[in-house]
Amino acid sequence: MSEQTKDLSEKIVGFDVWHIAVPVVDRRDHGIGRVENQIEIIVLRLVGESGLEGFGEASPWVVFTGSPEASFAALDRYMRPLVVGRSLAEIPAILEDCRSVVMHCTEAKAALETALYDLAGRVAGLPVWAFLGGKVRDRIPLSCSIANPDFERDKALLDRLVDDRVGLIKLKAGFSTAEFDISRLEYIRKHHPELDVRVDFNQGLSQEEARERVLQVAEFEPTFIEQPVKANQFQLMARLRDSLDVPLLADESVFGPEDMTRAINEQICDGVSIKIMKTGGLQRAGVVAEMARAAGLTAYGGDMFETGLAHLAGTHMIAANPGITLGCEFYQAKYFLEEDILAETFPVRDGFVEIPEKPGLGIRVDLEKVRHYTLHSSEGLNGSQ
Ligand code: MG
Repeated sequence: MSEQTKDLSEKIVGFDVWHIAVPVVDRRDHGIGRVENQIEIIVLRLVGESGLEGFGEASPWVVFTGSPEASFAALDRYMRPLVVGRSLAEIPAILEDCRSVVMHCTEAKAALETALYDLAGRVAGLPVWAFLGGKVRDRIPLSCSIANPDFERDKALLDRLVDDRVGLIKLKAGFSTAEFDISRLEYIRKHHPELDVRVDFNQGLSQEEARERVLQVAEFEPTFIEQPVKANQFQLMARLRDSLDVPLLADESVFGPEDMTRAINEQICDGVSIKIMKTGGLQRAGVVAEMARAAGLTAYGGDMFETGLAHLAGTHMIAANPGITLGCEFYQAKYFLEEDILAETFPVRDGFVEIPEKPGLGIRVDLEKVRHYTLHSSEGLNGSQ
């Protein structure tokens, strides 16, 4: 490491934002909505005085967290003036200022924190996880979601996953009939008994049907059942948890530390799905993970519809948090996108995501791909480099 690569007094001089649409190979149905043809995400590039770059991704889903337009505006209009001209030594203050300059927009805040630490890591010669307390694991078990309404296509995906030694799958349920969910579970248990199966309803069940349908699914003894009912139905979540022998996970009910406090107090879950796009960044995700661990809850590393760039940010976050023991779902770069935007393949081997060791996020973004998929961009505007 040379001396000049350690200096965090380096100022941020460039701030570019892209709204891009990346084609996907399949359809995904979840309890709250559908994704097909493409995903839309926001890419942020920060440029330091030395010319080094840091990248971050906002991965909104309109029915879950928010819109790409809101993320774009949060970054480009409201956060940019609080970032450009400041030094990397000010990262905590920059993040605090940007948390309050625009409400919500947690995905944009995650993108900003990712890009700041990617750039700081490249300047300092350190991986992002080093800024988050250090790494506690070298790899994370990968989970892939089974969510195609055409189950024949998912049967082929299951065969591919087993060939690739992926051991965890999450069945997306509650977007169709109970019979469809049961028949898929029967198939998976019969043909792939080696798989660790989890079930996620993504809020898809009504209050009237929830108890019966989660008990039906529980007979297949999944590792956990996730978010069967609406995010704000805390009392119903607590009642369902009481009636289940299978662990109940909260996802949409818990965005950040404030929700986690309430979820613990009201005993709505046995575990939580932690996502940087919900918490508004890597460090707040770590706070939720520690709160869960202290309360005796398990934790899972969830994601949104995202590219390898956001996967990398989540990977560094999970690397530094010992309580996230249920694996991660960073499958999309490899199994869902037609093409990722990273310059190298997102690191999955033998069913595990490998923790990068190189400076920053560890893999660069391929800007030509970003430009190719651009719908709208501020590149070159507003005095950026
Ligand atoms: Mg979920």
